[in-house]
Amino acid sequence: MFNPYKFIETKKIGLAHSPNSIDNFIKNFLANKVENSQMSAWLMAVFFNGLNNLELNEYVKSIISSGKQLHFPNLNGYIVDKHSTGGVGDKVSLIAGPILAACNCYVPMIVGRSLAHTGGTLDKLESIKGYQGDIDINQFKQNVILNKISIVGQSKEICPADKYIYSIRDITSTIDSLPLICASIISKKKAEGIQGLILDIKVGNGAFMKTTADAKKLGESLTSLGNSLKINSQYIVSDMNQPLGKSAGLWCEIEECINFLKNRDIDTYLYKVVHEICSRALKMSGQIESDKLIVKAIESGTAYEIFEKMVKTHKGDLKSSYKENVPKYKYTYNSKKSGYISKIDTEKLGYLLVEIGGGRKTSNDKIDPSCGLHVNKKLNDKINIGEPILEIFGNNKNKIDSVEKIFDNIIFISNEKNNEEKQIIYE
Ligand code: URA
Repeated sequence: MFNPYKFIETKKIGLAHSPNSIDNFIKNFLANKVENSQMSAWLMAVFFNGLNNLELNEYVKSIISSGKQLHFPNLNGYIVDKHSTGGVGDKVSLIAGPILAACNCYVPMIVGRSLAHTGGTLDKLESIKGYQGDIDINQFKQNVILNKISIVGQSKEICPADKYIYSIRDITSTIDSLPLICASIISKKKAEGIQGLILDIKVGNGAFMKTTADAKKLGESLTSLGNSLKINSQYIVSDMNQPLGKSAGLWCEIEECINFLKNRDIDTYLYKVVHEICSRALKMSGQIESDKLIVKAIESGTAYEIFEKMVKTHKGDLKSSYKENVPKYKYTYNSKKSGYISKIDTEKLGYLLVEIGGGRKTSNDKIDPSCGLHVNKKLNDKINIGEPILEIFGNNKNKIDSVEKIFDNIIFISNEKNNEEKQIIYE
């Protein structure tokens, strides 16, 4: 007889679970025979005592089998995805996805919403008027076959156990547990039916991982779990000590992606990250001349055409989004002294975006798609007194009017130039 009390106690005192007991626990939880309070207690025990490799494997398989999985037996292209651990202005998925699709890959991509100070790819896509990211798994599969790419949210059919457990972790301070993070991310990737996965582990003051050592530890754990499930997995560690690219927010990031894919106004750092991820994915797919392929996908306009087709298939209307997402209010933050931009507190900047309506404080909060910021100066750039550093905008006048003082604690200027930042830290 299964006894949840005994099961929780095993982990509480730091022992390993016997085979099949984790699967049993999850199945009983889904059948409402394990209470939320018992799941919370077990999650906290895992937070403190971890899971060994066998336990982690059983846990992730149990989560995957709680829902449906995609299979693509007859595609004539490599099936690949990328995943970022989150940051501010991180729009890489929306650019790398269409580029990979233009290079003979298939990209079934399940993405998330904003989390704490970081932006969510699904929220960004939903700033496109009409975009439907909540579609059933069969439609998702058809869209991938049709356009080579589809970007959706996690529906009830995909890893439902993860969805319920995540909502409990979110309110019980058990998000930041390495095995729970790995299982949550990799289960959804496995459900996509992919062959290859590139993980972009962000590190810095705007990332969840603050040190390179922690980022590498997460990268090693994620790739090891991915590889054990027969997903060819690699990771990079990339810098998140400033917003990635020229913008951060919702619609403004979509605009930046469109410009990038149209080969206009491309931020150098953003290009570097996109290039590294696409290059690795293409090499995994057996396409060695990755550099030429990436350049051709952008310069020929094919990657943009694929993006546009994908948006259309998901019922998104780009044309009216340009008109409807013009923000009513904006504030320009001008430099109070001359020097070099020495530090940007990126986490604070992310929370500022949440505050003005670009993210959620509770799950029911409504998001303002016009919200965002444009960055005119990046780390180490020279700045003169009175020159604009950034522009922040949205539709809530009171919020925009109140941001001025906050920037003095976010952006710092020094007389000396720092050492040049290295965008890809670990390859
Ligand atoms: N993203 C996920 O999908 N799951 C986690 O646990 C953390 C980030």
